[in-house]
Amino acid sequence: MVGPPIGNGAVTIAGNRIKSVGRWRDLAAGTFGQRLDLGDAILMPGLVNAHCHLDYTNMAGHFPAPKLFIDWLKLITSTKSEWTAAEYTASWLAGAEMLLRTGTTTVGDIEAVPQLLPAVWNSTPLRVISFLELIGLTKRRPPQRVLQEALDQIATLSHGRCYAGLSPHAPYSTVTQLLRSSAEAARRQGLLLCTHVAESQSEFSMFTHGRGDMFDWMRRSGREMSDCGLGSPVRHLERCGLLRKNLLATHANYLARGDAALLAKRRVSVVHCPRSHAFFDHSPFPLRRLRGAGVNVCLGTDSLATVIKPRRQSVELDMFAEMRALADRNPWLPSRAILRMATLNGAHALGQPGRLGQLSSGALADLIALPLVVKPGHAADAVLEYRGAVAASMIDGQWAVPPL
Ligand SMILES: [Zn+2]
Repeated sequence: MVGPPIGNGAVTIAGNRIKSVGRWRDLAAGTFGQRLDLGDAILMPGLVNAHCHLDYTNMAGHFPAPKLFIDWLKLITSTKSEWTAAEYTASWLAGAEMLLRTGTTTVGDIEAVPQLLPAVWNSTPLRVISFLELIGLTKRRPPQRVLQEALDQIATLSHGRCYAGLSPHAPYSTVTQLLRSSAEAARRQGLLLCTHVAESQSEFSMFTHGRGDMFDWMRRSGREMSDCGLGSPVRHLERCGLLRKNLLATHANYLARGDAALLAKRRVSVVHCPRSHAFFDHSPFPLRRLRGAGVNVCLGTDSLATVIKPRRQSVELDMFAEMRALADRNPWLPSRAILRMATLNGAHALGQPGRLGQLSSGALADLIALPLVVKPGHAADAVLEYRGAVAASMIDGQWAVPPL
């Protein structure tokens, strides 16, 4: 991802770090210790899935693609309240297995059921950043209490590979004070933030014009609405102090003039989830505008609750499927740019540039192998067409999927 593909390449590893990258014949001579020949394969950095909801994996196919975004919100909210902790655990672990199989080594995951932590972290070799979901739109859930509960839990969590961040859910499902306090706490404690922003036209209308179906529904639900009608959802986040380098802004499908430039200026990363975008049939994702403005755009799977499931077929959390969906919608986008979105850009968004998403000296030893025979010049195209399980996956210098 940081240089041209290398034919007959090799990687040397010490502990959990990559020591060197080059040609086999150059590296093998000076290398001691165990050697492994993967045969005909593409060896590349593990994929970085910047946005997922492992909790909802087993909700695949539960909800039809809705006419209105808020209808889907109502459906998932009622399903969420019915599930038991055991169901969530099974769903989380099933999702983690899918990600491993399909080449993800790092995932930015929204955690709506914080009691699953840290047990689920200990049950997967994945590198997981769990963003604790914060929802609070009425006085029944005072913002300070919602936030403090999450911060108290984060203080108890300590793990070698996994860590937690904060996810104030979305502008519509939070109040100004919750967004503002979350941003301040994240800044104080050096935490990453993730929020869903400008996902739907309804949300855009709620904030920009102070009207529409989401506005009416939220007002009926008892939300304080004085923050609406003042500008786009992205502008709202700016007013609340959220737009900073530590923010992953997921979706950003509906932008007002100047929003892309503002996101770039504040060095916010945007996470695009191509299959979720298709599920809701949103307006085309403003990829050219964001890239043109200089925004770091990376990729995520979102949850399987928002992936179209053909009848009698199964669907998986799969970054290769997301890359293909992106390529299908954007034939102008070079394969290498898509691969960078799924590796380097995700690493940058998660505050790990130089450590994740690339094979280079000093980076963490997170690698995957695909059983493909191609000339180096065709590697990027071949990777995008790849379907199925990876031949091997290494995370933190340990085999997560051992080579056969
Ligand atoms: Zn999401």
